Amino acid sequence: MITEFELTAEHRSYRETVREFVESEVDPVIDEYEDAGEFPEDLVRQLGQEGLSGVPYPTEYGGAGLDYRSFAITNEELSRKWKLLAGAVNVIASLVGYPIYTEGEEWQREEWLQRACTGEWIVSLGMTEPGAGSDAASMETTADRDDDELVINGHKVWMTNGHVADFMLLVTKTEEGLTLVGLPEPRRHDGVEFVRNIPCMEGDTAIESEVRFHDVRVPAENIVGEPGRGLRYALEGLDIGRIGTAAQAVGVAQGAMEDSREFADEREQFGKPIREFQGVGFKLADMAMEVEAARLLTLSAADQRDRGERVTQEAAMAKAYATDAAMDVTTEAVQVHGSRGYSKDYDVERRMRVAKGMQIYEGTNEINRHVISTRMYE
Ligand SMILES: Cc1cc2nc3c(=O)[nH]c(=O)nc-3n(C[C@H](O)[C@H](O)[C@H](O)COP(=O)(O)OP(=O)(O)OC[C@H]3O[C@@H](n4cnc5c(N)ncnc54)[C@H](O)[C@@H]3O)c2cc1C
Repeated sequence: MITEFELTAEHRSYRETVREFVESEVDPVIDEYEDAGEFPEDLVRQLGQEGLSGVPYPTEYGGAGLDYRSFAITNEELSRKWKLLAGAVNVIASLVGYPIYTEGEEWQREEWLQRACTGEWIVSLGMTEPGAGSDAASMETTADRDDDELVINGHKVWMTNGHVADFMLLVTKTEEGLTLVGLPEPRRHDGVEFVRNIPCMEGDTAIESEVRFHDVRVPAENIVGEPGRGLRYALEGLDIGRIGTAAQAVGVAQGAMEDSREFADEREQFGKPIREFQGVGFKLADMAMEVEAARLLTLSAADQRDRGERVTQEAAMAKAYATDAAMDVTTEAVQVHGSRGYSKDYDVERRMRVAKGMQIYEGTNEINRHVISTRMYE
């Protein structure tokens, strides 16, 4: 592994463009949604209209035709203010969209991917089950053939944005093995039971769905790629998803660091700004170091992907390091804010809750460390 990367003038200008959009369109409404506990459906769809949802895909499928460094920048800039939005973007470029783009039929790219990239559809991935988390291969949801249809039965949990999804990609078991199956417009199927939105640390704006499938019929042509190769496709998508999650973590940490820098300058105790106390200043310095190191690892993995290389180890390193860094930085950010950090009047407590989730999804950080250590012997 060689850590190197290059950001061009176009990348820097792209970062400015995304930042301007986030500052003007997203930042002013975050509190409104968060206070109401309402999922920002319109905003998520707007991201597609702005070309931010399908960043790495060709324009013919509704993408922006940009590279993975731009994809990382998009995730970072959205998450600097509101990670929730980046979650919807990441899944299109990775676990849901990537197998459709690389392995799907042309009609699936034109009908499914294009709608996801342009914001017409919100998409959701169904992989995790009550009995199958890190050990994804042990899942039990089935898709049985009945002539030219598949009949889906099973139980999925933690389907991000499941309740509002216009399209689900399900990892199912067929007689060939694990198989990806597309389920468009799930809310129109009587057999799709939305059991509950799992209440979670991220708060009420987040949608983490528990869904049961009872004899849900879809055309057999909805299989993505070859039957039996679903887990392999999902793992390839995960390499991209981990770069996206790492970039989200960089954004969350960057936001927490900026908040802390500003607060430590304004807040006075013992007659001076608290940043003048070395105990506080060193915390800010540690935050800055961790954010920068996480960003370098993330962009390096994205750059390597842009060169067409396999990035399983690099993406796992970026994901585990950056999300651990985000947890450290946000925890310290709350500390720098004192009692205010513990209150909901400031953003840092939300950033800390969000960071915890990132250490768990896209493979827990233990699983990512397993990936890294295994590859060290290959
Ligand atoms: C916010 C959020 C969003 C999510 N979104 C989605 C989604 O959209 N779609 C989806 O399908 N899933 C989603 N998930 C689920 C996520 O992928 C799983 O939570 C994750 O894979 C871990 O599975 P688990 O929770 O069952 O934990 P388990 O696998 O039960 O793990 C429990 C603990 O054991 C550890 N552990 C397990 N195996 C090993 C091992 N071999 N070595 C060392 N430690 C191990 C884990 O690291 C963890 O600490 C989401 C989860 C969260 C929190």
